[in-house]
Amino acid sequence: MKVRFLPFAENLFNDSAIAVPTEIDPNLPSETISTALSNGWVWKIPLTNRFGNGYVYSSQYTTPDEAETELRTHLGILESDAEARHLKMKVGRTEQTWCNNCVAIGLSQGFIEPFEATALQFVYSTIDEFSTAFEEGDFTNQYQEDFNDRMNKNFEGIRDYIVLHYKANSRIDTQYWIDNRENQNLSDNLKEMLNVWYGIEDLEAALTRLNIGQYYSQRSWTCLLAGVGIFPRQENLSVADEANRLAAQSDLDYVDKFIAGCSLNFQPHARVLVSD
Ligand SMILES: Cc1cc2nc3c(=O)[nH]c(=O)nc-3n(C[C@H](O)[C@H](O)[C@H](O)COP(=O)(O)OP(=O)(O)OC[C@H]3O[C@@H](n4cnc5c(N)ncnc54)[C@H](O)[C@@H]3O)c2cc1C
Repeated sequence: MKVRFLPFAENLFNDSAIAVPTEIDPNLPSETISTALSNGWVWKIPLTNRFGNGYVYSSQYTTPDEAETELRTHLGILESDAEARHLKMKVGRTEQTWCNNCVAIGLSQGFIEPFEATALQFVYSTIDEFSTAFEEGDFTNQYQEDFNDRMNKNFEGIRDYIVLHYKANSRIDTQYWIDNRENQNLSDNLKEMLNVWYGIEDLEAALTRLNIGQYYSQRSWTCLLAGVGIFPRQENLSVADEANRLAAQSDLDYVDKFIAGCSLNFQPHARVLVSD
């Protein structure tokens, strides 16, 4: 396509991954677990026949061998001969998704590390949005620019939300985490969202104003920031904010009971996966 590639290396440091399988637990969990390690994070995904595990890390901070040893130690398989696959990730996006008579989809469009597992959904939404733009433009390139702008915004919206996970970390044990926290290469949109949060303004209105609410709603931003313990300064809270905060705290018992009750409606995960 001869379209420029815009790397995200300044925002997201991870550029490599190692994948290694382990034995599945007969009591199959239903969730993927993500765990921070010294220079990245590990996924653990339960499948019907194995756990898929992988370490996404930055090659600026560790070598592939060190990373593999760290991953194996974390999984308790240091001595095992399970084969590890090493991957490189080219993180960033093309300047335009639609150029002349070509539309880039999937890896040809760009890649963001699999932290929020967004790639396949993005493939789907690109096809969907392209079909609409092409059809509504009477099968011409009338809406090409709109479509490209939207794709770029969506791509960067996902990137910024992932960057925030790193920016918001409080670890001091490795240079990787310290550098991530101190990284000042934040997009204007992300800076604005942080200002809105610290200023106790309306997150929903900010997402609409910046036009970046397509993937992550106000609730996602709140869960992330509050979940890692980042809050506006206490002295900036109004009496009403403080009352809301206390009410939300006392709600947690209710939420736990509610979720435990809801789970009774579902079959064990293993049974659901093999039921076809
Ligand atoms: C470690 C990791 C974890 C991920 N986890 C998730 C996740 O949880 N959720 C999610 O949504 N996404 C995830 N992704 C991303 C997702 O898997 C990819 O973005 C997606 O598979 C890209 O699809 P693609 O069709 O563009 O490329 P690919 O899936 O790589 O397909 C390209 C195909 O083209 C073939 N090919 C290459 N060159 C040629 C050639 N010259 N001639 C013929 N064939 C060729 C290749 O063999 C391959 O089959 C993850 C990615 C990685 C690396």
